Amino acid sequence: MRDRFRFLSAVVALMLSAGCAPSGAPSGSDAGGAATGAATTTPPATVSSPPARPDAAGAATAAPKVAVTLFKNVRIFDGKAEKLAGPSNVMVRKNIIERISSEIIQSPADANVTVIDGGGRTLMPGLIDAHWHTTLVRSTAAQVLSADLGYTTLIAGAEATDTLMRGFTTVRDLGGPAFALRRAIDEGVLPGPRIFPSGAMLTVTGGHGDFRQLFEVPRIDGMPLARMEQLGAAIVTDSADEVTRRAREQLLQGASQIKLTASGGVASPHSPIDVITFTTAELQAAVKAANDRGTYVAAHAYTPAAIQRAVLAGVQCIEHGQLMDEATAKLMAEKGTWLSIQPFPDEFAHIFPPGSDQSKKMLEVMAGTDRTYQLAKKYHLKTAFGTDIVFSPELAKRQGALLVGLIRWYTPAEALGMATGANGELLALSGERSPYRGKLGVVEEGALADLLLVDGNPIADIKLITDPARNFVVIMKDGKIYKNTLSH
Ligand SMILES: [Zn+2]
Repeated sequence: MRDRFRFLSAVVALMLSAGCAPSGAPSGSDAGGAATGAATTTPPATVSSPPARPDAAGAATAAPKVAVTLFKNVRIFDGKAEKLAGPSNVMVRKNIIERISSEIIQSPADANVTVIDGGGRTLMPGLIDAHWHTTLVRSTAAQVLSADLGYTTLIAGAEATDTLMRGFTTVRDLGGPAFALRRAIDEGVLPGPRIFPSGAMLTVTGGHGDFRQLFEVPRIDGMPLARMEQLGAAIVTDSADEVTRRAREQLLQGASQIKLTASGGVASPHSPIDVITFTTAELQAAVKAANDRGTYVAAHAYTPAAIQRAVLAGVQCIEHGQLMDEATAKLMAEKGTWLSIQPFPDEFAHIFPPGSDQSKKMLEVMAGTDRTYQLAKKYHLKTAFGTDIVFSPELAKRQGALLVGLIRWYTPAEALGMATGANGELLALSGERSPYRGKLGVVEEGALADLLLVDGNPIADIKLITDPARNFVVIMKDGKIYKNTLSH
């Protein structure tokens, strides 16, 4: 037993010392310490770290210096303002933006400093996608339902790394088995965005997200869960008690908010778009379960009737909303309900077979998009940006391009502000259930250091966002540099 303990201590000590040992490259005080090009979670090497020692008891004698990154000479888009700030310097200590100043910031002596000379480029908050499905982007629906969950999660991990390298440092996951991936990313196992998971989305029999086959009904009490339920993608609930239990199960697993589908949907086989799904009592049960745990419910809903029922039951964020009317917009404004909506790209008109039910539903939703954005502006609705890309790795590559699509209704600064500062406010609704401590979506002192250095001014030329590989020269998440093409 004692030997076993010694062995484990040695392993732990070796792991700790290996993590802070010099990797060969001197870090110095200039940009050389940062990662170059490829994604990496390894912090810059320190010059003062102790070498790894085979003697476990002697390891970890001197504490490694704290990591500081100094961005010099940048113009800041802070996630809210209409204009860039004047030339500034920004110091990040560990994972927090510690100081922003127009004066020169001296490198602290007690830290391992990486200096990035911004050369007048734009420093902005990492982008946030408020409607994402981490595990459903690269696989098709059939693949998700038929494959082993481990495989689906690995595929999703690869996509998560690409998502981060597109400059999206946070996603709000609105349905799918994302808990394990979030944990692995947060533990530094692989690069990826912060994830605000919902877990399985709650639906009703015949609702959006009920992907069961016809032979699976009627469901008899005691029957095994359907495949989508076993995977944690969606779960059918047909009473207030069942809603309570299933919502609490998601919260137990770490859901930062509850997602349910209050109306029919476009892609689901059994849910006409005009239907209302949950009863008021069921919606209230979900809201109670979420509120009691300090968080909120986000509801997928298109039609005025479905949206209004959800809002009146206490739902705090409506997903989509493309078929809303004036009275519904007014109600949402009164209640302070968020609208999380997508500017669907024009090619969505052709993604389903012409004349099919799904195609008709898609066209109806697309026709309502313009009107809904107009209503959102007219009634000053709190509006979030999300893409809701599912089952399409090709479209995922255009995640930033979809954001640029907002300039049909908003100024570039407003569009960028929606995907950063505004989305950060929406994420804050998770309160103590947020997986992350600190403010997101802004460049301000005290906020979490999720930052992009853009080669140009995205307010003057928002199209820069469409080519992240070229134009995002530094990508930082939680104070760690995942990309830096300026160092050499
Ligand atoms: Zn969705």
